[in-house]
Amino acid sequence: MAARLSAQEEQIEALSREILRLRDGLTGGFDFSTLASGPSLDALRAENEKLQYRLLHLRRSLRAEQELEEHSHNQNQRTSKPDQNQNQRTNTQKSQSKPEEPKEKNRPKNAAPSRSSASDVQEKNKKEKVKAELNPWPAFVSGRLQVYERLKKESDALLAERAAGGHSISVQLPDGQTLKATAWVSSPYQLACAISQALADSCVIARVNGELWDLDRPLETDCSLELLRFAHEDAQAVYWHSSAHILGEYNKFKCRILNEKVSTPTTTVYRCGPLIDLCRGPHVRHTGKIKALKIYKNSSTYWEGRSDMETLQRIYGISFPDSKMLKEWERFQEEAKNRDHRKIGKDQELFFFHDLSPGSCFFLPRGAYIYNTLTEFIREEYSRRGFQEVASPNIYNGKLWETSGHWQHYSENMFSFPVEQDVFALKPMNCPGHCLMFGHRPRSWRELPLRLADFGVLHRNELSGTLTGLTRVRRFQQDDAHIFCTMDQIESEMKGCLDFLRCVYDVFGFSFQLHLSTRPEKFLGDIAVWNQAEKQLENSLNEFGEPWKLNPGDGAFYGPKIDIKIKDAIGRYHQCATIQLDFQLPVRFNLTYDRPVIIHRAILGSVERMIAILTENYAGKWPLWLSPRQVMLVPVNPSLEEYAKQVCERFVEAGFMADADLDSGCLLNKKIRSAQLAQYNFILGKQRAVNVRTRDNKVHGEQSVEEVMQRLMLLRLSRCRCAEEDF
Ligand SMILES: [Zn+2]
Ligand SMILES: [Zn+2]
Repeated sequence: MAARLSAQEEQIEALSREILRLRDGLTGGFDFSTLASGPSLDALRAENEKLQYRLLHLRRSLRAEQELEEHSHNQNQRTSKPDQNQNQRTNTQKSQSKPEEPKEKNRPKNAAPSRSSASDVQEKNKKEKVKAELNPWPAFVSGRLQVYERLKKESDALLAERAAGGHSISVQLPDGQTLKATAWVSSPYQLACAISQALADSCVIARVNGELWDLDRPLETDCSLELLRFAHEDAQAVYWHSSAHILGEYNKFKCRILNEKVSTPTTTVYRCGPLIDLCRGPHVRHTGKIKALKIYKNSSTYWEGRSDMETLQRIYGISFPDSKMLKEWERFQEEAKNRDHRKIGKDQELFFFHDLSPGSCFFLPRGAYIYNTLTEFIREEYSRRGFQEVASPNIYNGKLWETSGHWQHYSENMFSFPVEQDVFALKPMNCPGHCLMFGHRPRSWRELPLRLADFGVLHRNELSGTLTGLTRVRRFQQDDAHIFCTMDQIESEMKGCLDFLRCVYDVFGFSFQLHLSTRPEKFLGDIAVWNQAEKQLENSLNEFGEPWKLNPGDGAFYGPKIDIKIKDAIGRYHQCATIQLDFQLPVRFNLTYDRPVIIHRAILGSVERMIAILTENYAGKWPLWLSPRQVMLVPVNPSLEEYAKQVCERFVEAGFMADADLDSGCLLNKKIRSAQLAQYNFILGKQRAVNVRTRDNKVHGEQSVEEVMQRLMLLRLSRCRCAEEDF
């Protein structure tokens, strides 16, 4: 670095001299201030300045690491020479107590936030740990505090200077009220106090001119001010982010971040007691705001998720401003745990995973039934809604991925391999293949809109450490379709897509939220095209009649989109469907007629992930049409076993997931009970007719086999969610 820097400085000097020489030759005199400009020189200077800062950072961290090494070296000596131990400890303590504030005073009263939730044993361990961690402090702490104090003084002086000239500013509140304040003096917290102490106490963070802002950070100009309480999503993010700082520090990694990630001349740090953390913030005012904290999981991970880097422990925790909220959260977690699709998937023998193919699910017969029933459902809708199903290859030559842009932007998520002279890759998406299908012969406007649907198998190379059950997998299928249409057709196609998804989600029993994401700052294409398309999306949403929200600037660089989040039975939101406009892919593939627009859309999204969501939503109590256990036949006495078997076969032939319990060692009531626990929707007690009862023990009485079969077929066809009641 130093070598590069001095080489660069030399270059700049040489260039300056060169210019000087030229100037002298031309004019006979020189004006130094005009010599040094020029775009390339300016760029060089800017880079030079950055490099200087980096060198400074590097030297600092080198020094810190050396100190750390010396420290551990000293410690080793200490343990080997007990006589010197006492001396050195006092020495280090002396130097540590130098920074003015005694550590106890400096630690906020509530700095031990896990008190309310930790068990006694943990509590005891923690106390010992606190002692071990802070007495004595690690060697770097005192040095770090000194640097901090020095920089803080500089920063305070600058602030005081600005505050001295602080003029009056006006602050606009969301209710329209305007407050007077002083620039570089008034903070959001002070303004909150002026309104009410209760407000000041309960707000977590401020938002100033749309930017999240520390409550104690002085305002700088005329601005809008929002005070966000914990209930606000953004306040929660700040709250939990702040809580994470409490969980630990490791200086080595902080230095690394500082050196590798911070390229600006200045950066921000936050201090809490002896802890000084590099962070862009903002945070809660102090750790006393964190009243309840629970650590609930830890796992091994790599630095930046890279397997060639250090192994680290990842600690999962949650915190709240109120211990009641933590209790509520724990109850919710318990409920979610009971519904966990991995648990139900195992209990109901739906699917499993194997180390020999991580992230690719093995669907057992009953799981495959759910899988196929879902795709069949969508297929039926396709034929009703003018979609045409196609089948396309799984592997493609790298040239296709170059054209589509995947090679440039997505290659690390793709499985690629050599084939003869070329590199091929497994498709992570269907779109490029569909573009080849659209483009393989000239198209006429009469063919538009062309709606190509594909349940093709997709592969994405997710890091093995991030794979979790069916929610993050490497192999999956989507109810994917691409609509090739003209600009004028966008609105009606969007309406069709929205109507389609409402129909599907109604069957599942999901309510949903709609968000329109519009043109981002960095976009490709013609602004007029964007505006026209966004207008059409807006129209289609308004006509659809469900409430929707705007996410300005959140669209993809290649087109605006509608995001749909579904709400499950325990109130969690999941993003499954997307409707994404794409102006770029048709350009990349040079598609005509008159440059169609592509609409990427999926409703289930990944079928795998939808199965996870549905499993947890129904808590394993599948509605009849989707149920992997629909009918159980139980003969009332052993002489009827053969007959029960025959009736069972008739149900299977009619496409039902039916079984007969022929275990003669088991009593009738026990068989009924275990069928109910296994979530068979209907249990048929076989006599001459059948006696119908449900998994929730609703008894529908005796009917002929024929009648029952007819009724169940109708219920299955209707895809109703409570066939057991409606029977
Ligand atoms: Zn932070
Ligand atoms: Zn697509």
